[in-house]
Amino acid sequence: MDCVFCQIVAGKIPSKTLYQDEEVIAFRDINPMAPTHLLIIPKRHIPSLAHLSDAETSLIGLMAKIANELAREEGISESGYRLVISSGEEGGQVVPHLHMHLLGGRRLSGKLC
Ligand code: 5GP
Ligand code: ZN
Repeated sequence: MDCVFCQIVAGKIPSKTLYQDEEVIAFRDINPMAPTHLLIIPKRHIPSLAHLSDAETSLIGLMAKIANELAREEGISESGYRLVISSGEEGGQVVPHLHMHLLGGRRLSGKLC
């Protein structure tokens, strides 16, 4: 398996893990774009949001719930933060394993894209 995030899930690539349960793991982005930049990913390899099956839609709610909890722990719940899921090449997705970015800790650009 050459997927970098699957290797993080397997512990073969170290990461600054902040949370994990049976389905999801969250860790700090290696190249942070903001003071808080976390990635929340499913442990199961799902290539992108576009590959999410109908039976898996609750996973996104779970990831958002964990992001909210982590935002509170990071002290940015009140100041504000942004959740981003990029899907596919033109969506800007680089790592082909579904992930949600949690960004905050400074005023983010008003530009969405
Ligand atoms: P994408 O552009 O696919 O939405 O985001 C992929 C993110 O994964 C990037 O922000 C990148 O910095 C992060 N990333 C890539 N490889 C690693 C890694 O090995 N460890 C960690 N912690 N983050 C990574
Ligand atoms: Zn993977």
